[in-house]
Amino acid sequence: MDYFGWKRYVPVASRKLQAVSRLANLRKKGRLVAPVTIEGRKIAASFWGISWCNNLERYSDYETRLPRGRSYVRNGFVVDLQIAKGEVTAIVSGSELYDVKVTIAPVASPRWRAICRDCAGAIDSLVELLQGRLAKGVMDRVCREGDGLFPAPDEIKLSCSCPDWADMCKHVAAALYGIGARLDERPQLLFALRGVDENEMLAGAGQDLAISKSAPAAAKVLDDSDVAALFGLEMAEPINSGVPVPAAPKPSRRTKTNKGKASAPAKAPAAQNGDLPRRARSKVGSRRKAKIRVRAKRARRRTDLST
Ligand SMILES: [Zn+2]
Repeated sequence: MDYFGWKRYVPVASRKLQAVSRLANLRKKGRLVAPVTIEGRKIAASFWGISWCNNLERYSDYETRLPRGRSYVRNGFVVDLQIAKGEVTAIVSGSELYDVKVTIAPVASPRWRAICRDCAGAIDSLVELLQGRLAKGVMDRVCREGDGLFPAPDEIKLSCSCPDWADMCKHVAAALYGIGARLDERPQLLFALRGVDENEMLAGAGQDLAISKSAPAAAKVLDDSDVAALFGLEMAEPINSGVPVPAAPKPSRRTKTNKGKASAPAKAPAAQNGDLPRRARSKVGSRRKAKIRVRAKRARRRTDLST
């Protein structure tokens, strides 16, 4: 604050450095943090990430307040974001570090059953579901306003520890966009957040949820290691541990559904194996092996099914 009580202007570059050093400090103190990192201008690139952002932007309640959060999240000011059932907590770097909490009501059982019923038989595997490789009807259904999978403003409660907290400050807006970015890397967190089991959307699982609480046909279910291989992620830790999310290749983009407001320049190609340190190379090697294992498993399942 200066002499007249105005906030001193801090250039964005300095704020970015500030955020980086605050993040380092949190880690030094032993805090497990998962910062939101965004390359380029697009906040989200996958079906689930883009749909999350589109859902926020369609409500006039948020219209005027969201834009302030976009530059915050792009600049790396969301230094920690944790998604759990019904709740998102974040630490956002502003004039200082602020704690943000977003509480989201779980999807009510009748609504979830209706979603599963309407999508019955249309989603063959968890891979398709998480990658967002879905029929248009399914996409429209899960994104439908009011009774889809994404929350409406009256299901969302927001709070921030900053002094200028009103209904939605830029820290909260940044955290809300951060969720979209995180869903690119871990789409299954949307289902966890909304308190539903994504496996119940798969073909064969949704006909009668009351009876079949059990898992769907084994051939359609992937375990964590399969999903890890799919997204190139290390998933040894629990779904929502505070361990930082490694920079993972994003799922393939769906330009058809890509209505994100910002158009990003093409990303630089991923580093070649030769450019990576030995540890990273072995990680890439193990991912490849994991992918090969997944393919072999699928081939086995196909054989099993055909016989
Ligand atoms: Zn705030």
